[in-house]
Amino acid sequence: MKCPFCAHVDDKVIDSREGRTGDTIRRRRECLKCGRRFTTYERIDEIPYMVIKKDGRVLSSMTHTLAADGKTQTIKGTGNKPDGTTDDFTVVMKKVSGGSGWGGTWEDTDVKFTSPDEWEIQAYEGDGLSFNTPAYKDTLSMKFDGKDYPVTGLPYADTVSVKRVGADTIQGTMKKGDKVVMTVTSKVSKDGKTRTSTFVGKDAQGRDVHNVVVYDKQ
Ligand SMILES: [Zn+2]
Repeated sequence: MKCPFCAHVDDKVIDSREGRTGDTIRRRRECLKCGRRFTTYERIDEIPYMVIKKDGRVLSSMTHTLAADGKTQTIKGTGNKPDGTTDDFTVVMKKVSGGSGWGGTWEDTDVKFTSPDEWEIQAYEGDGLSFNTPAYKDTLSMKFDGKDYPVTGLPYADTVSVKRVGADTIQGTMKKGDKVVMTVTSKVSKDGKTRTSTFVGKDAQGRDVHNVVVYDKQ
């Protein structure tokens, strides 16, 4: 940082504080040559590219773009699946608190995957189901006996148990450790063509979830 009085390039920072909106840092500096003091403001506005890795393997890479008004950001990315295929996604996030820059709290409003994960669901041992996700080479098999079955790939839960609560209704309970984080009630319509699932609980960020999802049988 050049001194505005004598143009010397070395200074010491004597005070740093975050700006009012949380996206600037105000620094009080003292020139090491002439000893005069000046203030700089640094904007925190660069989060252009992010790569998420696991065990040295790139899981996904994404580019964040902040809207001109600072209120929404768009994240475009590519995920890499273990079978070598990729999955493009777009997430639009809305600022829920904080100032005009990157700082603050964001909430996702719109998530689009160009190739949603395919699940193969099969009957399992008479009264249960197997969920197979070919892209992740992962299979979850469980009986509807209310026992906890370990799951992988869910950010918010370690185990899932499922029991029947009616002729057409099953209820799933997802736990992280001993704590119930989510319950899912899934009801098949009388004609068997749609299934309505109601998710109630908390997501990986601890936010309340109450989602009703209607699936059409294909
Ligand atoms: Zn100076």
